[in-house]
Amino acid sequence: MIARLRLQPADVGLGMTGQRARDRLIEDLRAAGIADERVLNAIRTVPRHRFVDEALASRAYENNALPIGHGQTISQPYVVAKMTEALLAAAPTRVLEVGTGSGYQAAVLAALGLEVYTVERIGALLRTARKRLRALGLQVRSRHDDGRIGWPEEAPFDAILVTAAAPALVEALLEQLAPGGMLVAPVGPSAGQSLLRVQRQADGSCVQSDLGPVIFVPLLAGLVDR
Ligand code: SAH
Repeated sequence: MIARLRLQPADVGLGMTGQRARDRLIEDLRAAGIADERVLNAIRTVPRHRFVDEALASRAYENNALPIGHGQTISQPYVVAKMTEALLAAAPTRVLEVGTGSGYQAAVLAALGLEVYTVERIGALLRTARKRLRALGLQVRSRHDDGRIGWPEEAPFDAILVTAAAPALVEALLEQLAPGGMLVAPVGPSAGQSLLRVQRQADGSCVQSDLGPVIFVPLLAGLVDR
Protein backbone atom coordinates (compact mmCIF):
# COMPACT_ATOMS: atom_id res chain seq x y z
CA MET A 1 0.00 0.00 0.00
CA ILE A 2 1.40 3.38 -0.96
CA ALA A 3 0.51 6.32 1.31
CA ARG A 4 -1.22 9.32 -0.19
CA LEU A 5 1.22 12.23 -0.47
CA ARG A 6 0.48 15.93 -0.62
CA LEU A 7 1.92 16.80 -4.04
CA GLN A 8 2.41 20.06 -5.93
CA PRO A 9 2.08 20.73 -9.70
CA ALA A 10 5.87 20.45 -10.30
CA ASP A 11 5.85 17.01 -8.63
CA VAL A 12 3.43 15.52 -11.12
CA GLY A 13 4.18 17.37 -14.39
CA LEU A 14 6.39 16.22 -17.24
CA GLY A 15 9.42 18.44 -16.55
CA MET A 16 12.79 17.62 -14.96
CA THR A 17 11.15 17.10 -11.56
CA GLY A 18 7.89 15.52 -12.65
CA GLN A 19 6.42 12.07 -12.98
CA ARG A 20 8.15 11.28 -16.27
CA ALA A 21 11.61 11.89 -14.75
CA ARG A 22 10.70 9.49 -11.94
CA ASP A 23 9.41 6.89 -14.42
CA ARG A 24 12.82 6.95 -16.15
CA LEU A 25 14.54 6.42 -12.81
CA ILE A 26 12.27 3.42 -12.14
CA GLU A 27 13.37 1.87 -15.44
CA ASP A 28 17.03 2.37 -14.42
CA LEU A 29 16.37 0.67 -11.07
CA ARG A 30 14.60 -2.25 -12.75
CA ALA A 31 17.55 -2.65 -15.13
CA ALA A 32 19.87 -2.65 -12.11
CA GLY A 33 17.96 -5.58 -10.60
CA ILE A 34 15.39 -4.00 -8.26
CA ALA A 35 12.33 -6.19 -8.68
CA ASP A 36 10.03 -5.46 -5.71
CA GLU A 37 7.06 -3.55 -7.14
CA ARG A 38 6.23 -2.05 -3.73
CA VAL A 39 9.68 -0.47 -3.56
CA LEU A 40 9.55 0.74 -7.17
CA ASN A 41 6.11 2.24 -6.54
CA ALA A 42 7.25 4.06 -3.41
CA ILE A 43 10.23 5.54 -5.28
CA ARG A 44 7.95 6.52 -8.15
CA THR A 45 5.64 8.29 -5.68
CA VAL A 46 8.11 10.21 -3.50
CA PRO A 47 9.34 13.45 -5.16
CA ARG A 48 13.11 13.16 -4.55
CA HIS A 49 13.74 16.69 -5.86
CA ARG A 50 11.99 18.02 -2.74
CA PHE A 51 14.78 16.46 -0.61
CA VAL A 52 17.68 18.34 -2.25
CA ASP A 53 18.56 21.99 -2.73
CA GLU A 54 16.61 23.74 -5.46
CA ALA A 55 19.85 24.16 -7.42
CA LEU A 56 20.16 20.36 -7.66
CA ALA A 57 16.49 19.61 -8.31
CA SER A 58 17.00 18.94 -12.03
CA ARG A 59 19.49 16.16 -11.12
CA ALA A 60 17.31 14.54 -8.49
CA TYR A 61 16.19 11.65 -10.73
CA GLU A 62 19.65 10.63 -11.83
CA ASN A 63 20.67 7.43 -10.11
CA ASN A 64 23.34 9.20 -8.03
CA ALA A 65 24.05 10.37 -4.50
CA LEU A 66 23.92 14.19 -4.19
CA PRO A 67 25.31 16.62 -1.59
CA ILE A 68 22.86 17.90 1.05
CA GLY A 69 25.27 20.17 2.95
CA HIS A 70 27.23 19.62 6.18
CA GLY A 71 29.47 17.17 4.29
CA GLN A 72 26.55 14.70 3.96
CA THR A 73 24.75 13.13 0.99
CA ILE A 74 21.32 11.91 0.02
CA SER A 75 21.87 8.22 -0.86
CA GLN A 76 21.81 6.95 -4.43
CA PRO A 77 18.26 5.81 -5.36
CA TYR A 78 19.58 2.33 -6.19
CA VAL A 79 20.98 2.00 -2.67
CA VAL A 80 17.73 3.27 -1.12
CA ALA A 81 15.82 0.72 -3.20
CA LYS A 82 18.18 -2.12 -2.32
CA MET A 83 18.12 -1.40 1.42
CA THR A 84 14.34 -1.03 1.40
CA GLU A 85 13.93 -4.28 -0.53
CA ALA A 86 16.20 -6.08 1.96
CA LEU A 87 14.26 -4.92 5.01
CA LEU A 88 10.83 -5.68 3.51
CA ALA A 89 11.85 -9.36 3.61
CA ALA A 90 11.19 -9.18 7.36
CA ALA A 91 7.59 -7.93 6.73
CA PRO A 92 8.14 -5.02 9.15
CA THR A 93 5.64 -2.64 10.72
CA ARG A 94 7.93 -0.50 12.90
CA VAL A 95 11.20 0.65 11.35
CA LEU A 96 14.09 2.65 12.81
CA GLU A 97 16.38 4.62 10.51
CA VAL A 98 19.74 5.88 11.78
CA GLY A 99 20.87 8.91 9.77
CA THR A 100 17.84 10.95 8.61
CA GLY A 101 19.96 13.19 6.36
CA SER A 102 17.64 14.71 3.76
CA GLY A 103 14.66 12.67 4.98
CA TYR A 104 14.29 10.89 1.62
CA GLN A 105 14.81 7.32 2.81
CA ALA A 106 12.38 7.96 5.68
CA ALA A 107 9.85 9.29 3.15
CA VAL A 108 10.17 6.14 1.02
CA LEU A 109 9.58 3.97 4.10
CA ALA A 110 6.61 6.08 5.20
CA ALA A 111 5.16 5.96 1.68
CA LEU A 112 5.20 2.16 2.04
CA GLY A 113 2.86 2.56 4.99
CA LEU A 114 5.51 1.68 7.60
CA GLU A 115 5.69 3.27 11.04
CA VAL A 116 8.98 5.15 10.77
CA TYR A 117 11.32 6.37 13.51
CA THR A 118 14.45 8.23 12.43
CA VAL A 119 17.44 9.64 14.30
CA GLU A 120 19.90 12.31 13.06
CA ARG A 121 22.93 13.84 14.82
CA ILE A 122 23.07 17.12 12.81
CA GLY A 123 20.31 19.45 14.05
CA ALA A 124 20.09 21.59 10.92
CA LEU A 125 19.62 18.57 8.62
CA LEU A 126 16.97 17.14 10.90
CA ARG A 127 14.98 20.39 10.99
CA THR A 128 14.97 20.63 7.19
CA ALA A 129 14.02 16.96 6.82
CA ARG A 130 11.12 17.39 9.24
CA LYS A 131 9.75 20.31 7.23
CA ARG A 132 9.94 18.35 3.98
CA LEU A 133 8.22 15.29 5.43
CA ARG A 134 5.49 17.42 6.98
CA ALA A 135 4.91 19.29 3.69
CA LEU A 136 4.34 15.95 1.96
CA GLY A 137 1.88 14.91 4.67
CA LEU A 138 4.09 12.00 5.76
CA GLN A 139 4.06 10.88 9.40
CA VAL A 140 7.59 10.16 10.62
CA ARG A 141 8.79 10.27 14.22
CA SER A 142 12.22 11.82 14.51
CA ARG A 143 14.80 12.58 17.14
CA HIS A 144 17.99 14.64 17.37
CA ASP A 145 20.44 12.20 18.91
CA ASP A 146 23.40 9.92 18.36
CA GLY A 147 21.71 7.06 16.54
CA ARG A 148 24.40 4.59 17.63
CA ILE A 149 22.33 4.14 20.78
CA GLY A 150 19.22 3.49 18.68
CA TRP A 151 15.91 4.62 20.20
CA PRO A 152 15.63 2.46 23.35
CA GLU A 153 12.27 3.89 24.50
CA GLU A 154 10.60 2.80 21.25
CA ALA A 155 12.41 -0.55 20.81
CA PRO A 156 12.00 -3.25 19.69
CA PHE A 157 11.84 -2.58 15.95
CA ASP A 158 10.97 -5.03 13.17
CA ALA A 159 13.68 -3.49 11.03
CA ILE A 160 16.58 -1.10 11.50
CA LEU A 161 18.27 0.67 8.65
CA VAL A 162 21.59 2.42 9.17
CA THR A 163 22.48 4.94 6.45
CA ALA A 164 26.03 5.78 7.58
CA ALA A 165 28.95 3.36 7.81
CA ALA A 166 30.47 2.06 11.06
CA PRO A 167 33.67 0.01 11.37
CA ALA A 168 31.61 -2.90 12.74
CA LEU A 169 27.97 -3.80 13.44
CA VAL A 170 26.60 -1.72 16.32
CA GLU A 171 25.65 -4.06 19.16
CA ALA A 172 23.09 -1.68 20.74
CA LEU A 173 21.15 -1.64 17.48
CA LEU A 174 21.11 -5.43 17.13
CA GLU A 175 19.69 -5.58 20.66
CA GLN A 176 16.79 -3.33 19.61
CA LEU A 177 15.62 -5.79 16.94
CA ALA A 178 12.48 -7.82 17.58
CA PRO A 179 12.82 -11.61 17.03
CA GLY A 180 12.83 -12.14 13.27
CA GLY A 181 13.80 -8.47 12.85
CA MET A 182 16.22 -7.29 10.17
CA LEU A 183 19.11 -4.85 10.38
CA VAL A 184 20.53 -3.44 7.13
CA ALA A 185 23.75 -1.49 7.54
CA PRO A 186 26.93 -0.51 5.68
CA VAL A 187 29.96 -1.74 7.59
CA GLY A 188 33.70 -1.25 7.06
CA PRO A 189 36.32 1.45 6.35
CA SER A 190 35.55 4.16 3.77
CA ALA A 191 37.64 2.30 1.19
CA GLY A 192 35.86 -1.05 1.54
CA GLN A 193 32.35 -0.98 2.94
CA SER A 194 29.86 -3.82 2.55
CA LEU A 195 26.12 -3.62 2.91
CA LEU A 196 25.22 -6.21 5.54
CA ARG A 197 21.83 -7.72 6.24
CA VAL A 198 21.46 -9.30 9.66
CA GLN A 199 18.34 -11.15 10.77
CA ARG A 200 17.80 -11.80 14.46
CA GLN A 201 16.45 -15.26 15.16
CA ALA A 202 13.88 -16.22 17.80
CA ASP A 203 16.71 -17.54 20.04
CA GLY A 204 18.56 -14.21 19.87
CA SER A 205 21.29 -15.41 17.50
CA CYS A 206 21.87 -13.56 14.21
CA VAL A 207 22.16 -14.71 10.60
CA GLN A 208 24.22 -12.40 8.40
CA SER A 209 24.58 -11.93 4.65
CA ASP A 210 26.60 -9.55 2.49
CA LEU A 211 24.61 -7.59 -0.11
CA GLY A 212 27.69 -6.18 -1.84
CA PRO A 213 30.00 -3.15 -1.84
CA VAL A 214 28.63 0.35 -1.05
CA ILE A 215 29.93 3.83 -0.25
CA PHE A 216 28.42 5.73 2.70
CA VAL A 217 29.48 8.69 4.83
CA PRO A 218 30.77 7.62 8.27
CA LEU A 219 28.59 7.02 11.33
CA LEU A 220 29.96 9.59 13.79
CA ALA A 221 29.72 10.17 17.53
CA GLY A 222 28.20 13.19 19.24
CA LEU A 223 25.61 15.81 18.33
CA VAL A 224 25.90 18.87 16.11
CA ASP A 225 23.39 21.55 17.07
CA ARG A 226 23.54 23.88 14.11
N1 SAH B 1 19.14 8.42 4.85
C1 SAH B 1 19.68 9.67 4.38
C2 SAH B 1 21.16 9.52 4.05
C3 SAH B 1 21.92 10.57 4.75
S1 SAH B 1 23.67 10.41 4.82
C4 SAH B 1 18.88 10.24 3.23
O1 SAH B 1 17.95 9.56 2.76
O2 SAH B 1 19.13 11.38 2.82
C5 SAH B 1 23.89 9.80 6.46
C6 SAH B 1 23.38 10.63 7.58
O3 SAH B 1 23.73 9.99 8.80
C7 SAH B 1 23.97 12.04 7.68
O4 SAH B 1 22.94 12.99 7.69
C8 SAH B 1 24.73 12.03 9.00
O5 SAH B 1 24.71 13.27 9.70
C9 SAH B 1 23.98 10.96 9.77
N2 SAH B 1 24.73 10.37 10.89
C10 SAH B 1 26.04 10.03 10.95
N3 SAH B 1 26.33 9.51 12.15
C11 SAH B 1 25.17 9.51 12.87
C12 SAH B 1 24.83 9.11 14.19
N4 SAH B 1 25.72 8.59 15.03
N5 SAH B 1 23.55 9.25 14.59
C13 SAH B 1 22.60 9.76 13.75
N6 SAH B 1 22.87 10.19 12.51
C14 SAH B 1 24.15 10.05 12.06
